Amino acid sequence: MAQQVSEKQARQVAEDARESDWKQPSFGKELFMGNLRLDLIHPQPKLDPEAVEKGEAFLSRLKDFLQNEVDPAQIERDARIPEQVIEGLKEIGALGMKVPEEYGGIGLSQVYYNRALMLVGGWHAALSTLLSAHQSIGLAEPLLLFGSQEQKLEWLPKVARTHVSAFLLTEPDVGSDPARLATTATPTEDGSGYDLAGRKLWATNGAIADVVVVMAKVPREDRAQPAEPAASPKGEGNRGGISAFILPYDAEGVTVEHRNEFMGLKGIENSVTLLENVRVPKENLIGREGDGLKIALTTLNTGRLALPAICVGTSKWAVKVAREFASERVQWGQAVGKHDAVAQKIAYLAASAFGMEAMLDVSSRLADDKKNDFRIEAAIAKLFASETGWKVTDELMQIRGGRGYETAASLAARGEKAVPVEQAMRDMRINRIFEGSTEIMHLLIAREAVDSHLQVAGDILDEDTEIKAKARAAVGAGKFYAAWLPGLVSGAGQRPGSFDEFGDLAKHLRFTERAARKQARSLFYGMSRWQAKLERRQAFLGRIVDIGAELFAISSAVVYANTIASERPERADQARELADLFCAQSRRRVDRLFHDLWRNEDDANHAAALKVLDGDYRFIEEGIIDPSGDGPMIAEPPAEAHEAEQGSNGAFADAGAQRGAKATVA
Ligand SMILES: Cc1cc2nc3c(=O)[nH]c(=O)nc-3n(C[C@H](O)[C@H](O)[C@H](O)COP(=O)(O)OP(=O)(O)OC[C@H]3O[C@@H](n4cnc5c(N)ncnc54)[C@H](O)[C@@H]3O)c2cc1C
Repeated sequence: MAQQVSEKQARQVAEDARESDWKQPSFGKELFMGNLRLDLIHPQPKLDPEAVEKGEAFLSRLKDFLQNEVDPAQIERDARIPEQVIEGLKEIGALGMKVPEEYGGIGLSQVYYNRALMLVGGWHAALSTLLSAHQSIGLAEPLLLFGSQEQKLEWLPKVARTHVSAFLLTEPDVGSDPARLATTATPTEDGSGYDLAGRKLWATNGAIADVVVVMAKVPREDRAQPAEPAASPKGEGNRGGISAFILPYDAEGVTVEHRNEFMGLKGIENSVTLLENVRVPKENLIGREGDGLKIALTTLNTGRLALPAICVGTSKWAVKVAREFASERVQWGQAVGKHDAVAQKIAYLAASAFGMEAMLDVSSRLADDKKNDFRIEAAIAKLFASETGWKVTDELMQIRGGRGYETAASLAARGEKAVPVEQAMRDMRINRIFEGSTEIMHLLIAREAVDSHLQVAGDILDEDTEIKAKARAAVGAGKFYAAWLPGLVSGAGQRPGSFDEFGDLAKHLRFTERAARKQARSLFYGMSRWQAKLERRQAFLGRIVDIGAELFAISSAVVYANTIASERPERADQARELADLFCAQSRRRVDRLFHDLWRNEDDANHAAALKVLDGDYRFIEEGIIDPSGDGPMIAEPPAEAHEAEQGSNGAFADAGAQRGAKATVA
């Protein structure tokens, strides 16, 4: 049964899962404090020649495989990835792209792993989703980061070559809020392991997986006493809490109940999975009890870079399609791309593709270099690329007109090039929802952005702190702010000639430096005004984060243009032109965000939303019929749901029919 969890408890669970310390410098953290530390991302680390050679060789193998052996139209038509394609991916080593060679993988760098996903995602998004779920959040990454040597030796060679993996966190009642997690892991009487029970929703690869990572809650109380204390999972790690387990999917009690279908990503093997008293040995616990969410979040630090890579790929493709179509299609006397309204869109596509690629390249090289804490940069890359990628795809559809809305199969059937724009749009939309929805990414990044403030003024910002403690905290905070605030008044951005090594692009860095200080001041004003209530001002915080994201994007675009100039001199001028364009567009967005920080309808909107939720304004719903039918909005929790199913041929009744379900089907 899902727990009833207060907002405060939910926040505490998220807080406990955070990496609380900053062992390495962070460009993003400094930026939100008003400090443009360009030295942390410029010059970009050089790519290791060996990694490049290995990466290029793999990309070429992958490209051959995709072009010669995978028919993306067939995947779309059948909503299935054919068995031989999955086998082919295994054969070329695609399952082990990120697994080090010593464990049987290919050991690609982050830069090349991303390039591989970009390539695959452009061919069909179901393929990149399979590979990304398997490697970015599936078993390999958590084991590399937190697994024991025994676990690595046993499982990494398997997931690198033969075993498809999945990540099972979400439940019908657990989406963005893991504190409600209802799946349990009960220590066994003899202390040799745990019994897992619960229902997991939307697990990508979950309908065909060989092994999965499951998040389940170990109860903190009423623990059975072990017969053999030495063999018990109790002991040093016996803390209870949400924990991560390796679960071989052929274990007794695992039932794939349903293969979910979506608006896009046709062909992904996404499951509802029931766990009924599934026994796992204690050796399958990853890390310690209670570490589950920390493992999930830390895994996502790098895992999150996969998704922007896929968005960058789609955006590059959008530029290609726009160029080819809008130069050929003539209406009203000239190519549609030359009509100003369409030209504006094409420029947005090209500049955005460049800006997104720059952000991805900067973040990925940081990940490979391992000298910086890049959690904020990776999170921003996910947020920015998923939002921008969606707008890019939408504009591409507009540029293609009716052809954008028509399916590729229909286009081909009447003799035109099978350009799958409507599919790209369907595939792109989910990126704003999974691996941290945009709203949750705003909160997550805002939390990191205010971390320095919380360290000095946390008690003032905590609703529960007593007045006396607040007063004491104010003294300490006063000292910090007396030193920090004056530093936000002036900086390099006001000095003509600063950042001159970047030539014409220097003006954008001067803007960024000024804007970083302004953003830090704005955040401080917000903290002063709303204090503990700041965390409820999600629209305000969202804009602060979006400003930070744009500033990171501008910095990345300038730095990346410089990198291109040194690595590919023949492209230097065009790279600078695109960087210039991207920065100009981004600056306009920043200005708008600053404006909206203090001039907006946030309060009126919030009040109206509460009225809507209360049932006011119901007249606005008149004159329609709702095709949704009856049924609960959220499926019932496992016990009740299962009972209900016995008599009712319920929502999961088609379970047994699913091809590829490896587990026992009830
Ligand atoms: C195709 C697909 C594949 C997936 N793959 C996996 C997978 O492999 N493994 C897995 O475990 N899960 C997977 N998921 C689940 C996915 O991660 C969740 O959909 C996501 O976490 C959001 O949860 P939810 O859909 O329940 O939204 P909810 O949490 O119900 O949120 C609904 C809305 O409220 C917003 N919201 C929620 N809380 C807050 C808040 N505190 N403040 C502001 N806004 C808030 C959300 O942003 C969203 O807009 C997948 C989902 C899909 C659709």
